[in-house]
Amino acid sequence: MTTQERDNAYVAGTYKRFPLTVVSGQGSLVRDENGREYIDLGSGIAVNSFGVADPVWQQAVTAQLGKVQHMSNLYYTEPCALLAEQLCLRTGMKKVFFSNSGAEANECAIKVARKWAAEHKSPEHYTIVTLKNSFHGRTLTTLAATGQDHFHELFQPLTSGFVHAEAGNAAELKAIAAQYKLAAVMVECVQGEGGVLPLTPEYAKAVQELVREQDILLLVDEVQTGNGRTGRLYAYMNYGLEPDVVSTAKGLAGGLPLGATMLGERVQDVLGYGDHGSTFGGNPVSCAGALSILNRVDDALLAQVREKGDYLKKTFTGAPGITSVSGLGLMLGLQTKKPAGDVLRGCMDRGVLCLTAKDRLRLLPALNIPMELLQKAAAVILDCCE
Ligand SMILES: *Cc1c(COP(=O)(O)O)cnc(C)c1O
Repeated sequence: MTTQERDNAYVAGTYKRFPLTVVSGQGSLVRDENGREYIDLGSGIAVNSFGVADPVWQQAVTAQLGKVQHMSNLYYTEPCALLAEQLCLRTGMKKVFFSNSGAEANECAIKVARKWAAEHKSPEHYTIVTLKNSFHGRTLTTLAATGQDHFHELFQPLTSGFVHAEAGNAAELKAIAAQYKLAAVMVECVQGEGGVLPLTPEYAKAVQELVREQDILLLVDEVQTGNGRTGRLYAYMNYGLEPDVVSTAKGLAGGLPLGATMLGERVQDVLGYGDHGSTFGGNPVSCAGALSILNRVDDALLAQVREKGDYLKKTFTGAPGITSVSGLGLMLGLQTKKPAGDVLRGCMDRGVLCLTAKDRLRLLPALNIPMELLQKAAAVILDCCE
């Protein structure tokens, strides 16, 4: 059997994979089993922050693998402590809870909001407002938080206590606050799975004002937008937001599973002994990888992310077959005249890997993609959109 036949026979059928088996790569180039090379503009869905097999990251990860790969949270390990310190120093947050994925990072954020509100407001203040068209994960609770009905249908009953508001509609948000006893508002600054749709600055401001007025928490889901993706370390920094809880995962450890829920001043002591936990959370190998990534997501790299994003926006805006370009930094969505899936397949045939989100072509290249590869890939995309 080939890998594809074996996978189709034995792996649960939740993914519609492309007929491409990747065996290796270097940076933003990946190679299939026949030795064919592709320029990767997806980074494993914003995970491989510095591409595939980055040598500095690899060195950090393998060095830790040779020391200790796991000890559980019964003991201290240095990479976990160092990473928590770095995240706090770089964001002004006060504490970090580590898990293994975006959904888990959001679960923790939701538990923090529930406990904080029960203690500081009342046990009836449990409702969390999330946005329509949002995506927060696949566990039953993060599915409930996700504001897209089609994800909900087969899995009833979901966790209760979520209300979905329309992004951009500040009046509706106010009305919801008047109707429900709220604990928090949770937003993605750029809706990723929803089609690469940034919040407007006006709406972001309205959300911030509402949480202040209502004395509730602001939770920001930075699972996809975080760790340099939008040209700032975290996307909320583009908006001047002051979140109480920031959840992140995807690009944090550069390709290893790691989630982080960062807790601001107001909620730093909400979680006490036994309130939450994760066997693998804060794994030293993942944390060593994350430290290597975070150290290199500095001002110079972030400036390059913004420049490359601007270059792509300029290249695609007004181009034949492209009706609009959305997003921030190296998180971009293209509305194409042809169906986005057709453009994606055309690009793949020509050696460029892209993603889609809803009806848009989605680009999430490695943060350090060389300019010449970006130019080559952009030319292919332009060709395939025409
Ligand atoms: C991917 C994603 C998640 C879920 O992350 P997993 O690691 O797949 O659990 C949650 N929120 C956002 C915004 C995401 O993009």
